[in-house]
Formats: sequence, C-alpha cells, structure tokens
Amino acid sequence: DEENRRLREKYHIVVEGEDVPPPIEHFQDMKIPDALLKFLKSKRISMPTPIQLQGIPVAFSGRDMIGIAFTGSGKTLAFCLPLIMFACEEEAKLPLVKGEGPVGVILCPSRELASQTYENILQWTDALSREGKYPRLNTLLCIGGISMSEQSHVLNNGLHIVVATPGRLIDMLEKKRFTFNNCKYLCMDEADRMIDLGFEDDVRNIMSFFKRQRQTLLFSATMPRKIQDFAQQSLIKPVLVNVGRAGA
Ligand code: ADP
Ligand code: MG
Repeated sequence: DEENRRLREKYHIVVEGEDVPPPIEHFQDMKIPDALLKFLKSKRISMPTPIQLQGIPVAFSGRDMIGIAFTGSGKTLAFCLPLIMFACEEEAKLPLVKGEGPVGVILCPSRELASQTYENILQWTDALSREGKYPRLNTLLCIGGISMSEQSHVLNNGLHIVVATPGRLIDMLEKKRFTFNNCKYLCMDEADRMIDLGFEDDVRNIMSFFKRQRQTLLFSATMPRKIQDFAQQSLIKPVLVNVGRAGA
C-alpha cells in the first residue's frame, strides 16, 4: 500500500514480483532475537540497510528472491539472518542428530568469500546460543584446502549450515559426507561472479542433490542478462529486490 511504496521510494528500492512482502524499517520489528540485536548493535549495526529492510522480510517469508545491491551494502546479513533463524526454528522443532543436515547452504565463488561469510555466521550463531534460549547451530566451511577431519566435530553432530565453494561441495556430496535430504535453503552469493567464473553447471548439479522443496536466493551486485536467464530457470516466482544507486 501507500506506506510500503513510501518506504521503498525513500530507500531507492525497486521490487518486482507478485505479492511482495512489505519492507520493515527497523530490526526491532523483524522478530529477530534480542540477543542478536544486541550483538549487532555492538558491531554498529543498528539500522537495516535497504537490501536488508526489504530483503530480510522477503527471505523470511519463504519466497525465492533475487537481491541486487551494490558492494558494501550489507547483503551478507540479508541472506544469513533468515537462514540462521530458519535453522533455529527447525532445530527447536526436531533437533538434528549425527549425520543429519544441513538445512541450508550458502554458495560462494571463492574460498576467501566463503571463509568471511563463515566467520560472520559463527559470530552470529555464537551470540544467539550464548543467550541460552536458542539452540547451538553447527556450521561447516566446505572449501578446498581445509581437511574435513579438522571439522569432524561439526560432521559428528547435527549439521545446520554449510558455507561452500561449488567444487568442494559437489565433492562432499558425491562422497556422501553429508546429504541434502533435509536441505531447504540455497543462497548463491555474488551470483554474477559465480556465473562469470563458469560455475553455472556446478550450481545446477548442486541443485540436483536437493530432495525437498527449496527456497532459492540469488544475491549479486549487478544483474547481467546471464543472471536473469539463470534465475528464470532455477527460481520459482521470485521476488526481485533491486537497490539502485541514486537514479540507477
Ligand atoms: P556486501 O556483501 O553487500 O558487499 P557486506 O555484507 O560484506 O556487503 O557488508 C559490508 C559491511 O557493512 C560489513 O562490514 C558489515 O558488517 C557492514 N554492515 C552490514 N549491515 C550493516 C548495517 N545494517 N549497518 C551498518 N553496517 C552494516
Ligand atoms: Mg558480499
């Protein structure tokens, strides 16, 4: 309605798609646990950025999504927070046991980006579990050059979240180190780079390992034709959230 339109205009957010969930201007109104809000505040994150205030409600709603916003605009939190909350919900309903999981996976085009995203997720899940009310979530960093035995403590419990580069993830799936039997959330970060680096077939291969209905999210700084085509083939009724620079 009018208020949603006003907010989107204020933050230069353009949306496309059917029944787009409304933007939410403050973290406090997003049903994010206080423990996490407090932690974010300690990191000087107190107001959501435009991609967060529109993207997080869309991701929370379970819709497929394409999130386009420039570098440095806070995309990581926009797709990690909904996954963390989803993993908490699933864990509260039915705790994962050894050999089960993950419930969600984040794909990155490089080891460096995967490592950074993993470190972020560890901070956020630690802040949550310190509060006591929330379950401990286990996250696995799945990239070349890291031996899985170093992370066996994660694989020896229920595994909630995997942050991965495509090649290594396929390797792990083919070796049945874990399965996607319970996996419902797939996010591709830096999708433009992912496609430029030729990971498109790998991502399709990874999609074929999913057994359940999947929520697919695609984040990128730019949206070239190739990404639009890929999204059309791989996403279902996606919501497009595009945060342009002024005038763009
Ligand atoms: P992107 O992936 O869009 O390039 P990042 O997710 O890497 O951006 O975030 C860039 C920086 O902005 C990070 O240091 C992050 O901690 C910070 N940041 C994220 N969200 C907010 C926010 N809501 N307020 C202030 N800083 C934020
Ligand atoms: Mg990023």
